[in-house]
Amino acid sequence: MQPGSEPKTLLDWLVPQLPNMLRTLETFVCTESPSTEKAAADVCARVIAAEWSKRGVPVELLEQKNRGAHLRVTYVPAKAKPRSQLLVLGHYDTVYASGTLAKMPFRTAAGRVYGPGSFDMKAGIVQALFALDAIQQVGTALTKKIVFLWTSDEEIGSESSRKLLEAEAKRGDAVFVLEPALGTKGLLKTARKGVGEAEIIVQGRASHAGLAPEKGVNAIHEVALQIARVKEWNDLPRGVSVNVGQVAGGTRPNVIPDHARAVLDLRALRVADMRKIEKQLRGLRPVLPGAKLTVRGGFDRAPFEREQSRELFQRATELAKRMGLTIGEATAGGGSDGNLTAALGIPTLDGLGAVGDGAHSPAEYIVARAMPQRAALLASLLLHS
Ligand SMILES: [Zn+2]
Repeated sequence: MQPGSEPKTLLDWLVPQLPNMLRTLETFVCTESPSTEKAAADVCARVIAAEWSKRGVPVELLEQKNRGAHLRVTYVPAKAKPRSQLLVLGHYDTVYASGTLAKMPFRTAAGRVYGPGSFDMKAGIVQALFALDAIQQVGTALTKKIVFLWTSDEEIGSESSRKLLEAEAKRGDAVFVLEPALGTKGLLKTARKGVGEAEIIVQGRASHAGLAPEKGVNAIHEVALQIARVKEWNDLPRGVSVNVGQVAGGTRPNVIPDHARAVLDLRALRVADMRKIEKQLRGLRPVLPGAKLTVRGGFDRAPFEREQSRELFQRATELAKRMGLTIGEATAGGGSDGNLTAALGIPTLDGLGAVGDGAHSPAEYIVARAMPQRAALLASLLLHS
């Protein structure tokens, strides 16, 4: 291993950068960027772009009609081999509406840094920025082009960024996702459940509950029978869950309702289980005579199976060891854009971002001390992939 690619060399260079990392994080967190507020998100995209531009690398703002601009940064090292690329992926949007900062200010206490989107996942962007610094300052062995992609709509399903990130992933040999790690131990996410949403809509026939009950078809009764059926698909030990999260229907107690619906959250750890549930959904038939059934939706992000991250995780473990660190792994119940790239068959390692806890809540924080370590781990992975 060349001296400049030794993980410990990168870590030693990054540790004194922590105050600079925190200053950059403050700038990013204090520019609020809710997924659904285009104007605010666009401002944040420019703030983040300005930081990357300082590194003398090409930064593109990919403007969107209804969402904040996506940001693509390309780093081509002098020794780059043609047609070989690594993708570093993340998002700068947050789940917090503008004005949240007033109730949930950026602050540091006892080694923790608080603020909306600090953990999920602006600290991850900062770590990637300083990983690039470390590569430029002390790394010598980089032979692949690196594309950093920071999107604006991951928290609302990646509708405007999906094509772009899938195209960049396909060009690459590996994808490193800077989503937060799992918990304060900083576990990498080596598998994620696939996630979907489905809707069961029942059309019945209205009638007077007292005068002509025989003429009615009760849509609520029908939807209840369907719910009892889908409930049986749950298999928690296998990582399969079907949660009826919403039901609606009916007008008054003395009216036989002609309409009812149920909305389902679907999760599966394996692609085969995802397919099975989708098939079962399509196979639902009405139970009550005269009831009509419509089923919509299905899985949106396929399961990210562990096989897609096995080699990269092993490499990360070895590199971390050379820095004197141990890392663990976990399966996440929630999806991310890592599901999309893993589904394409591209090796993907997720949860490489900040160490902390409390995503999507007022308690969201990161562990400051871990920032240089995680940046060094990313830089090492980029140098050795
Ligand atoms: Zn996230």
